[in-house]
Amino acid sequence: MNTPKRYTITAALPYTNGPVHIGHLAGVYVPADIYARYLRQKGEDVLFVCGSDEHGVPITIKAKKEGITPQQVVDKYNNIIKTSFSDFGISFDNYSRTSAKVHHDTASDFFTKLYNDGEFIEEVTEQLYDAEANQYLADRFVVGTCPKCGNEESYGDQCENCGTTHNATDLINPKSSITGNVPSLKETKHWFLPLDKHEAFLKEWILEGHKNDWKPNVLGQVKSWIDDGLRPRAVTRDLDWGIPVPVKGADGKVLYVWFDAPIGYISATKEWAAQNNTNWEPYWKDENTKLVHFIGKDNIVFHCIIFPAMLKAHGDYILPENVPANEFLNLEGNKLSTSKNWAVWLHEYLQDFPEKQDVLRYALTATAPETKDNDFTWKDFQARNNNELVAIFGNFINRVIVLTNKYYGGQVPPAGKFSEVDEETLASLKEFPNTISRSIERYRFREASQELLSLARLGNKYLADEEPWKVIKLDEERVKTIMNVALQIAAGLAVLCEPFLPFTSVKLKNMLNLDENLTWNDISSKEVLLSADHQINKAELLFAKIEDKEIEAQLEKLQATKTANEQANKVLEPQKETIEFDDFTKLDMRIGTIIEATKVPKTKKLLQLKVDVGIDVRTIVSGIAESFKPEDIIGQQVTVLCNLAPRKLRGVESQGMILMTDTPEGKLAFVEPSEKIENGGQVS
Ligand SMILES: [Zn+2]
Repeated sequence: MNTPKRYTITAALPYTNGPVHIGHLAGVYVPADIYARYLRQKGEDVLFVCGSDEHGVPITIKAKKEGITPQQVVDKYNNIIKTSFSDFGISFDNYSRTSAKVHHDTASDFFTKLYNDGEFIEEVTEQLYDAEANQYLADRFVVGTCPKCGNEESYGDQCENCGTTHNATDLINPKSSITGNVPSLKETKHWFLPLDKHEAFLKEWILEGHKNDWKPNVLGQVKSWIDDGLRPRAVTRDLDWGIPVPVKGADGKVLYVWFDAPIGYISATKEWAAQNNTNWEPYWKDENTKLVHFIGKDNIVFHCIIFPAMLKAHGDYILPENVPANEFLNLEGNKLSTSKNWAVWLHEYLQDFPEKQDVLRYALTATAPETKDNDFTWKDFQARNNNELVAIFGNFINRVIVLTNKYYGGQVPPAGKFSEVDEETLASLKEFPNTISRSIERYRFREASQELLSLARLGNKYLADEEPWKVIKLDEERVKTIMNVALQIAAGLAVLCEPFLPFTSVKLKNMLNLDENLTWNDISSKEVLLSADHQINKAELLFAKIEDKEIEAQLEKLQATKTANEQANKVLEPQKETIEFDDFTKLDMRIGTIIEATKVPKTKKLLQLKVDVGIDVRTIVSGIAESFKPEDIIGQQVTVLCNLAPRKLRGVESQGMILMTDTPEGKLAFVEPSEKIENGGQVS
C-alpha cells in the first residue's frame, strides 16, 4: 500500500468472563499501544479502538455458576478490565462494549446485508442437544475429543491444544458440560458462511499478496487451514444471550459470538465518531486507511479468515493490511491459566508494585512472545528493572538532571567546540528515530525496546567516558559542552521512550521542561532539542530498585497457587468398607500428652515418645520426625489408639499409635482436641 492517510488500529476484544493478566498485556495490548502511540508521535491520523466482548456461551456458564445474570457478569468484568487498561496507559481512543446498542445495530445490519445478498447458506441440520438441560450444545457447552489432535478436553468450537476450530458435531465422544450427559442429535435451522466460496480469494490475498509482510507464524497458520480445505461455518447459535438473529422465524437464536465480536471494532469506531462529531466511514471504507489487527495466536483464524471473508462478502469495507499476532506468554514455565489462577493479574500487580506500570510494560515488551512462546519470570522482571531501567536509563537521566542543577542552576549550558566524540554521539542520537521506527513498523517491538535502551546506554557511556564530575575541576568550559550534549540525548529519550514508557516520558518531559510539541521526527531533524539557557526542573526518581524480597513474595504467591491447585485436584481415597458399631467400640482411643521426645538413632522418620495417656505413661514410636522436631512437641496433646497390639520398631517396643493426618503441604499434623482435655479422656 502507498503511504497511508490514516490508521485504524484494533486490539482483540477481551472476553468479559475474568480480569486481564500479563499474557493479555504482552500478547496484544502493549504492542498495539506502542504502535498507536508511535504513530501519533509521528503526527499520523490514528484511531485505536477496542472494547469488551460480552456475548457467547462462557459468560452464560459463568453466570449460572455464580448465580447472577449474564449482564451482571459482563458489567463486573467490563469495569475491572477497562480500569486495568487505563491504569497501564493503554491509549484507546475508544473502549466500547458489544452489549452497546450501537453494536447490536451494527452487527444486526451487517448480518442483514449478507443475508439479503444471499451470502449465507440456510440449512436445517442436526445439532447436539441436551434433553435434560433443554438446550442445544455448541461451543463451550460441549467437550469431547478433538478430531485433529486427539485432545480429550476440546471445546465444541475450538481445540485449545492444537488451535483447530471445528463444529461441535465434529467432536468424538461429545459430552454436555452442563449435565455431563451424552447429547443426542436434534434438528435446528442455522445460517452458515460458506468459507469454501472465499478460499481462492483468501489464498491469493494472504498467501500471495502478504507473503512478505505478514509474520511467518501467522502465514503458517493460515496456510494450514487453507490446505485443510475451508468449510461452511455456522454464524448463528441456539442461545438466549447475544444479538438476536434479525430474520423471521429465528426466535431463540443469536449471532455466533465470533460473528459479532470483530464487528465490534466497527461499532467502537462509530461510537467514537459520534462522540467526536466526525465521520467514521473513512476509517473503515477508504482504501488509503491502513487497518491493523493486534491479536493473540488463538484468534488468527477469526481475524485472517472468517472476518476478512465477512468484510469481503459485505463489499463496503477495507481489509486488514496486517495481523501481527503474537504467540503465548508463559509464567514461570507454565501456561497462563485464568481457571487455574496461574497468572499475574494486572490489578494485583499494581497493588504490589504501585506506580510501576512502565516497568511491567518494559519487561513484557523485552520478552514479548513475538515469534515463539516465551516465558515471563519474576527474576527476569527484576533484572530488567534493576540492570536496565535503573542502572542505565535512570542512572543517565539522574546524572544529567542533578549535574545541570548543581553546576548551572538548572540552565542548559551553551555548547563550545565539539570534540570528535561529541559529534559522533550527536550524529548517533539523530539515527535513533529511524532505527526504532524500522523495528516498530515491522512489528518487532522487542527489538525496538532494546534499541531504545541502546540510546540510554549511549548517554550513560558518554557521561561515564567524559566524566564531567572530574573535568569540572580542570576545564569548566569543556563541561558546559559535555552537559549540553548529554541534555540533548536526555531530550531525545524523553520523546522516543513515549510509546514504550508513557508514564516515564511524562515525568522526564516535565523534568526537562520540554516543549510538548517536540515530535519523533524532530529528534533527527532539529539542530538542537534544548537550547542554551533553557531552564529545566529538579530531578525526580524515574525507576527504583526492586529488592529480592519483593520477588520472593511473588514467587511464594505462585507457589501457594500451585499448592492450592494440587490440593483441589487431589483424588481422595474412596470410603472404606462399612463396619458395625461393635467394631468401632473395640477401639480404645484416649487423649494423651507427649512428655518426652527423642530421635530413634539411625532413622530419618522415627521419634521415640513418652506419652501420658492417663491410665499410664507409655512409650510410643511414631513416624513423624520429618514433620516435627522433638523439642517442639513436648506438651502437645494427641489422640492415641491405646489397645493396638504392641510391636517392636528398630528394637523399641511401641505401645499404641498416635493419630495423624496430612496437611496441604504434605506434612503431618496431630489430631488434637479443640480444647485441653484431662489425660486419659476417652474418644468415642
Ligand atoms: Zn486439537
